[in-house]
Amino acid sequence: MEFLSRDKLKETIEHKQLFIDGQFVDSASGKKFAAFDPSTGETIADVAEGDERDVDLAVQAARKAFEEGPWPRLAGAKRGKILAKLADLMEAKIMDLSTLETLNNGMPLQATMFMTNAAIDVIRYYGGWADKIAGKTLKGDGDVHAYTLYEPVGVVGAIVPWNFPVYLLVCKIAPALVCGNTMVVKPSEQAPLTALWIAKLALEAGVPAGVLNIVPGFGPTAGAAIARHMDIDKLTFTGSTNVGRLVMNDAASSNLKQVTLELGGKSPFIICEDANLEVAAFFSHLAIFFHQGQVCLAGSRVFVHESVYDAFIEKAVAMAKRRVIGDPLKIEVEHGPQINQAQADKILSYIESAHAEGARLVTGGKRIGDKGFYIEPTIFADVTQSMTIAKEEIFGPVLSVLKFKTLDEAVKLANSTSYGLAAAIFAKDIDTVNFLSRSIKSGIVFVNSYFSAGPGIPFGGYKMSGIGRENGYEGLLPYLQTKSVVMPLANSPW
Ligand code: NAD
Repeated sequence: MEFLSRDKLKETIEHKQLFIDGQFVDSASGKKFAAFDPSTGETIADVAEGDERDVDLAVQAARKAFEEGPWPRLAGAKRGKILAKLADLMEAKIMDLSTLETLNNGMPLQATMFMTNAAIDVIRYYGGWADKIAGKTLKGDGDVHAYTLYEPVGVVGAIVPWNFPVYLLVCKIAPALVCGNTMVVKPSEQAPLTALWIAKLALEAGVPAGVLNIVPGFGPTAGAAIARHMDIDKLTFTGSTNVGRLVMNDAASSNLKQVTLELGGKSPFIICEDANLEVAAFFSHLAIFFHQGQVCLAGSRVFVHESVYDAFIEKAVAMAKRRVIGDPLKIEVEHGPQINQAQADKILSYIESAHAEGARLVTGGKRIGDKGFYIEPTIFADVTQSMTIAKEEIFGPVLSVLKFKTLDEAVKLANSTSYGLAAAIFAKDIDTVNFLSRSIKSGIVFVNSYFSAGPGIPFGGYKMSGIGRENGYEGLLPYLQTKSVVMPLANSPW
């Protein structure tokens, strides 16, 4: 089923300019860049290209809205109501928003709708916190009355990647806005369109002009201008570990703004001898092939106990071969294109390295067709942890299957990358589950499942997968300053 032809869809794209101070405006330079459809490689829109000057204008608007505007001063419940309205407006447009997202980043529509729904859940979840953010009464030394106030940090700069443009944007704007901050957001140059639409919906929902500004543009120009800006109080970044390091340097060498980083991963699955193999194979398939492997927590390394290794491979290969590949706008399609040529080339070079280093290809391994950027669901068996494909984030549909004998060996191998974002354990024995879940160094551990988190569950990285957490109560804390107020009680000796 396809809803509108691509040409008709292109005509429906309304918002292609920067969104600053409640207005859609051209960039100061007048420059534009092309947004592509990864399933055809064709341009779908020319988008205004922001750079340092536009970021500066957006920061001025956000600063004014923070220092003089109503947003930080509103009763929390009112901000909550506005976020709830934004969720309702997004829900009313869920089909159109998801279709635009799919057109611009190639995620199969069935996955995009799931993620847009998840984004709406995040907004409702944080809207619910609006009237519950409160400090504590403290016990000081002596006769003092002391308490904490939670205050918004100020102007928040946010930089977002292309893989889940709506969901990852919302994971930043919902907690930041509910705390009373104002924002300047740079969506990815690969997929900037839905963020602009959400800004418009936020304005309609009642978020005042200047509170949420969106500046599409490139990383080294618009992105770096945010990271280096002297009047941004906090930076929240989701993207690759390499760029995370750059923006942290920029934050440190400018005004030492606070930084939260959500970075890459190389998430291990540990499938034990007593695991339900059907369930393990199902979740492993989902974890590596959802959105063509372009997922920070893609389950890209599977460690299988030697006694069930061959049986697992058989199931995994059968599922990969059944995957429905095609036009991501068709609702029955499970596997669409990679985001762009560069990413497809990078994935193919990882596949070559796996051949060269002695891994055994059991399915896939090739590019599909010459239109768009499609790569087959690919599985390598007999992978060892020293191979490049087991160490580096591929960000594509390539699964490495490794073998283990003892749980200690599995833990050692699973922990032997510089990443620590997510992990999964498949086992029935509770002692095994407890041992593994406490031994794995990652921000989240799924047991006999995967991806089943939800907005109330904190998510973030150990090691080089990041700093800080998104979602849950912990996801509010990066957007709040804690102020302690201390006063002597009447007649106190001091
Ligand atoms: P990327 O790091 O290339 O880009 C991310 C964003 O940073 C983009 O908006 C880009 O324009 C911007 N950027 C690039 N160079 C910059 C610079 N010098 N200064 C400031 N900004 C700059 O990542 P990507 O390819 O868009 O996304 C894929 C990566 O994101 C993967 O590594 C993936 O694991 C990671 N990711 C992590 C999470 C998480 O929650 N941990 C979620 C999604 C994606």
